[in-house]
Amino acid sequence: MIEPIGAQQQLQVLERAESFIVQAEQLFARDFARIPVRFDLRGTTAGMYKIEGARLQIRFNPWIFAKYFEVNLRDTVPHEVAHYIVHAVYGDRRIKPHGWQWQEVMRSFGADPEVTFDMDLSGVPQRRQRTHAYRCDCREHALSSTRHNRVQRRRGQYQCRFCHATLVYQPAAVR
Ligand SMILES: [Zn+2]
Ligand SMILES: [Zn+2]
Repeated sequence: MIEPIGAQQQLQVLERAESFIVQAEQLFARDFARIPVRFDLRGTTAGMYKIEGARLQIRFNPWIFAKYFEVNLRDTVPHEVAHYIVHAVYGDRRIKPHGWQWQEVMRSFGADPEVTFDMDLSGVPQRRQRTHAYRCDCREHALSSTRHNRVQRRRGQYQCRFCHATLVYQPAAVR
């Protein structure tokens, strides 16, 4: 079993996230609030930008970071910071999660917006209650296995209660 990253590497991640926020402040010529960055994400997802009402946060998976530290520092950190920046700039307007606004921020970070990588996650602890990542036009959703199976068997569809778009399955490990 893999050990999650410790304080030293967490600090490196936080410093890198901070450096991207500073870059975004230069790009948009405005300030961005510092939001909590947590290392409490589990399962198959390396990183996630999460909106819960007025609470915004970035979450990273300390086990996946431990297994692939450099690649996550290079790709996952700017990926999630860019989601936050796009949300801060465009608010709840209905834009694609990985649309041109997000890609533009990624390029300004010197990060590759095309990148998705399949990671071997053996040794990374998985949730017992597995959830499946879905996207609408405004955010990410976690569906239970029951609902996921219903969608996969074409027995049901789910809509986002905020933007009313149909939820679409996101099998990739990085979102
Ligand atoms: Zn939505
Ligand atoms: Zn994403």
